[in-house]
Amino acid sequence: VERVDVLVVGGGPAGSSCARALREAGLDVAVLDRRDFPRDKTCAGWVTPQVAESLDLDLDDYAKSFVLQPIRGFRTRVIGGREARAVRREVVSYGIRRFEFDHYLLARCGARLRLGEPIEALERAGGRWIANGRLEARVLVGAGGHFCPVARRFAGPARAAEPIVAAQEIEFELADAESARCPVDPEVPELFFTEDLRGYGWLFRKGRWLNVGLGRRDRHRLAEHVAAFLAFLRAEGRLPFDPPRGMNGHAYLLHGEAPRRLAPAPGVLLIGDAAGLAYPRSGEGIRPAVESGLLAARWIRADGARGGDALARAYQRAVEARLGPRRPALRVGVTDLLPAGLARALAARLFAAPWFASRVVVDRWFVHRAQPALRLESRAP
Ligand SMILES: Cc1cc2nc3c(=O)[nH]c(=O)nc-3n(C[C@H](O)[C@H](O)[C@H](O)COP(=O)(O)OP(=O)(O)OC[C@H]3O[C@@H](n4cnc5c(N)ncnc54)[C@H](O)[C@@H]3O)c2cc1C
Repeated sequence: VERVDVLVVGGGPAGSSCARALREAGLDVAVLDRRDFPRDKTCAGWVTPQVAESLDLDLDDYAKSFVLQPIRGFRTRVIGGREARAVRREVVSYGIRRFEFDHYLLARCGARLRLGEPIEALERAGGRWIANGRLEARVLVGAGGHFCPVARRFAGPARAAEPIVAAQEIEFELADAESARCPVDPEVPELFFTEDLRGYGWLFRKGRWLNVGLGRRDRHRLAEHVAAFLAFLRAEGRLPFDPPRGMNGHAYLLHGEAPRRLAPAPGVLLIGDAAGLAYPRSGEGIRPAVESGLLAARWIRADGARGGDALARAYQRAVEARLGPRRPALRVGVTDLLPAGLARALAARLFAAPWFASRVVVDRWFVHRAQPALRLESRAP
């Protein structure tokens, strides 16, 4: 049996950020992932500048080898309605390819990597967690994304009723002829909110790569919504060719709605999508994944990787202080108080208004301009 201080299950942005911060404090860490890397992850692949800062990413260096598409704004509209453009001089976000980004982060984290190895067994003995009968640690970090086996083990029957966002996406490389015909400005991704306001679609070009998808807070009839969205893009001339293959599907949970416990068992912390931490308005999940990974590392370091009760409490407090209450009191928005038809009409006008696109959609929902990047204050435990 191989013994480490901390075992991280999942090598996405949450797991690799946590592992790196633990390694910097001298802890012995293993990251186990069922996939070999590089691997694809269903995602639009935009990240905010605060993510780059929290990760100490040298963007110039990263851009030498990988796709790093600067974004200066968004076009927004309700599907079928008029559009607004909110475009800035400065860079408000970046487009990355998860295939490259996740591999880069994992490769540099400094942990022992066990890739291509799914969790098949998880036991508890002598105050330690033992994975697959051969890897043991006092602290277990569940970073396996929405379907994380650590989260599933402790979720109970409530899992089936979780209020998921269901999404489909495809990312493909444009051939020369397609690239010339593609009308999408790489610096200005396009957002298309659904008429019932339960989700949005996007069209996002990163250099030669085009990413198109749609997500909804509703698990029913997603494929129909996606097909209608693609037909709409084709009819409008925004997507002048059919994607080369079928879409990939995935799900996630929004912070404030996710019923999962952040520390569901002794010595166990959940981070990123395993905990259900995506921002409610935008569905951005990479930033909360990275930040929760860093917060978990901060408190595991303070706890000396013993996995005590105080660790669970400290981590939960830290996540709530950063992202807000886990189960907030019922929030009622203006559109909830209006009859559905009126709410739709109001939404169509709002998303076509430049001030709304700029101040609300870009600054508040998508860029979180008011919230600076999370930095761990010191490298020491
Ligand atoms: C269609 C779509 C578009 C999105 N677009 C964006 C976006 O543009 N920007 C943004 O910020 N967020 C976006 N998100 C959300 C974002 O993708 C996630 O929030 C983010 O990937 C969470 O990171 P993570 O590290 O928690 O999990 P993941 O990135 O899912 O990584 C989990 C890892 O765990 C591994 N794993 C899973 N099961 C096991 C197992 N049994 N044993 C071992 N390992 C396992 C997986 O192989 C994977 O490598 C999008 C999500 C979807 C579905």
